[in-house]
Amino acid sequence: MNYVYGRSIRLFGTHGIRGIVNSTMTPDLAIRLGRALGTSLGKERRVLIGHDPRTSSELLECAFVSGLLDCGCNVTRLGMIPLPILAFALRKIPSDAGVMITASHNPPQYNGIKIYDADGSAFTNDKDSEIEDLYFSQKFAIAEYTGKGKLEEKRDIQTDYINGILEFVDSKNIQKCNFKVVVDAGGGAASRVTPLLLSKLGCTVIEHNCDPDGLFKERPLEPRPENLSRLMELVKQHHADLGVAHDGDADRTAYSDENGCFIQGDRILAVMCRYLLRDRPGSTIVTSINSSSVIDDAARLVDAKVARTRVGEPAVIQKMKETNAPVGGEENVGLIFRDWSWSREGPFSLALILEIMSRERKTISQLQGMFPVYMMRKFDVSLDPGTNYEEVKRMVMKRIETNLPKNRTNVLTIDGFKIIFDYGWLLIRPSGTEFKFRIFAEAQTEEKVEELANLGASLVEQSRIETP
Ligand code: MG
Repeated sequence: MNYVYGRSIRLFGTHGIRGIVNSTMTPDLAIRLGRALGTSLGKERRVLIGHDPRTSSELLECAFVSGLLDCGCNVTRLGMIPLPILAFALRKIPSDAGVMITASHNPPQYNGIKIYDADGSAFTNDKDSEIEDLYFSQKFAIAEYTGKGKLEEKRDIQTDYINGILEFVDSKNIQKCNFKVVVDAGGGAASRVTPLLLSKLGCTVIEHNCDPDGLFKERPLEPRPENLSRLMELVKQHHADLGVAHDGDADRTAYSDENGCFIQGDRILAVMCRYLLRDRPGSTIVTSINSSSVIDDAARLVDAKVARTRVGEPAVIQKMKETNAPVGGEENVGLIFRDWSWSREGPFSLALILEIMSRERKTISQLQGMFPVYMMRKFDVSLDPGTNYEEVKRMVMKRIETNLPKNRTNVLTIDGFKIIFDYGWLLIRPSGTEFKFRIFAEAQTEEKVEELANLGASLVEQSRIETP
């Protein structure tokens, strides 16, 4: 159980609020949270709201909207949209905040709520905490009956978004290439947008899982290689140039190369960073502590710096603002490009990859092949959920500190322990929301990465045993 300000419940994790429908995610929670946001913003402010295709999303949206209207906020409903469209809309439409009802890659029984600033960036932890305080205190500024908020609908934002991307990227060059692309939208929020965007970019589109489906029956939404075998088969079968898959809210895109091989997210991020910063020497790339050293390789090629942060989009964006960095992103291919929007981007980054392929006349496997190959392991070590998690976590972390291996060259403590060796690195970080430690290991050989992964698991287990 988490403790924040003496309370026994913490609502917001690293990605807004997530919960199981009818259990920890209910319309009661949504209306109360709507009132909390409405109270924080003040009367006659405008809030944009969108949702993914989950079966509970419209219900939760209606409840959240009721809370906002109750406090005198005006609301514009954008309908079923990918998350990046909300960020785009916040830049285009005068407004004071944005809300997205989605649980991203989680299974269909989950849903979630994320709140965004007027500039389209995710609320910082401080702002989330302010909403959380209001939620628990219930000191809501309910408007008089004469001052209730007004509701309007804007259903053509997808068209504006697609046109915005077509103007931003080198559409003409892309169109000349007649790329063939297989899309697996997972039945999620970008099921319509991404195929349409690709066809406007002159691509032949092979659709797979492109009917919005609130139950996501075809595959788990997390765009991991084990969930995308059909996509990779289709790329080979159709001799396509690229295969792409989104998570549920499409702030991420995973890629298969023209041979049907999955490409690690960091490598795609490296391809994009090298391209976007080619004429901006001295710029900063912001990335989280768990992303691959391939980002450092990309930075070296264009004389850029790398700034590392805690895991999570809000931390990356905050650091991008502090360092005036043009690009940022995490290991799961969520590119954030400041000139376009403050959101992790799925469809936009896809258009950008096509621009790079068309201008550099290279296949995606050639582009990602410019960088050294790294072996990576990611896994979790679970703790007994019956324990007082926060206390156990703190004590295990303290213990790990005393057990750190002697042959390390450095230790970073931005988020957990990142232990750096001559031949690779190991990251051990406690999950913010679950009863587990997350382990990441990276090295240039299978043997070394296995050694680091085993070291990570044994450090957590040993430190757990030694914890009273
Ligand atoms: Mg997502």
